[in-house]
Amino acid sequence: MPYESKLALGLTPYTAGEQPKDRQFIKLNTNENPYPPSPRVAQAIDGLCDSLRLYPDMEATSLREAIARVMGVSPEEVFCGNGSDEVLAFAFAAFFAGKTLLAPDVTYSFYPVYARLFGVDYRTVPLREDFTVDTDGLMQGLPVALANPNAPTGLWLDKGEIRRLAAHSRANDAVLLVDEAYAAFAPETCCDLLTEFDNLLLVRTFSKSHSLAGMRVGYALGSTRLISALRRIRDSFNSYPLDRLAQAAATASVLDGDYTAACVAKVVTARDKAYTRLRSAGITVLESATNFLFVRAAQEDAAPVQQALRERGILVRHFSAPRLKSWLRVTVGTAEDMDRVTDALIELIRG
Ligand code: PMP
Repeated sequence: MPYESKLALGLTPYTAGEQPKDRQFIKLNTNENPYPPSPRVAQAIDGLCDSLRLYPDMEATSLREAIARVMGVSPEEVFCGNGSDEVLAFAFAAFFAGKTLLAPDVTYSFYPVYARLFGVDYRTVPLREDFTVDTDGLMQGLPVALANPNAPTGLWLDKGEIRRLAAHSRANDAVLLVDEAYAAFAPETCCDLLTEFDNLLLVRTFSKSHSLAGMRVGYALGSTRLISALRRIRDSFNSYPLDRLAQAAATASVLDGDYTAACVAKVVTARDKAYTRLRSAGITVLESATNFLFVRAAQEDAAPVQQALRERGILVRHFSAPRLKSWLRVTVGTAEDMDRVTDALIELIRG
């Protein structure tokens, strides 16, 4: 008999983008924000050292209150976790374990991993030819999970379509999970649908728009019933998923809305400029509502283009799935980063 459980042996873990330690790269491979977090974050965590001997507030009360205030919900409708990855994992356990779940075939590749871990029968609906989400296809089963905007395409489904999915799910007593990791870079979010739908769970993160990937803070917004279910899972796993530094940092960050808005605006400007330049050079690139661009870099396999960029000191992400093989996902960095990567892509792709 092996040491490992059948569960451990049966998993195919998620592969995260490279975090290089050996040399300096222009790092456009994991959708981090190129700007530092709000200066208020440093003030908030400075001097917390003495308090670290005590466990943190397991309910992350101040952070939940701050998020609630900014997002226009009540603190009881907010759940915080160790990165939105953990919140997603808890949601899979709370709402989908033992059920059949429908998701787009091209989406965040952690979903099938959580599905396997929690015994979810994971079924996919192909994106349309143009990489848009097939809402009608997703309505052929329940429950449904999707990222909006989607990753790695960067495309965005408007609120009317999410409302349709939420109404269909509710009519069939199912939760609709919408992963809004990138919604801060999109024209709108679905937050106001929360008042209409007690079955809608929005999962969001401080990693992208708030420049706090290194702190690991994510959250969910939903009805008190959904939030209670997430807490049941949390308290069956780890009562203190958010440490004191993370709670203080995220609270300071969420309350500095002007700073976040300014960083998001810079990223969006750099994104749209790079998009326009790539399109003008005849390169296929999808219209992004996120902090990354999905660029068609080859006829067949874009891996050599990724490697050539790496040799020039630029990291981007490549996925080997058949439908994604000829594309690269390029995180939006500073204006200078984007000039560098755009020049390199034009040269490598167009010759
Ligand atoms: N959802 C999507 C769609 C993502 O791309 C990511 C980032 N890899 C996450 C969730 C997780 O983000 P984090 O755990 O840093 O909050």
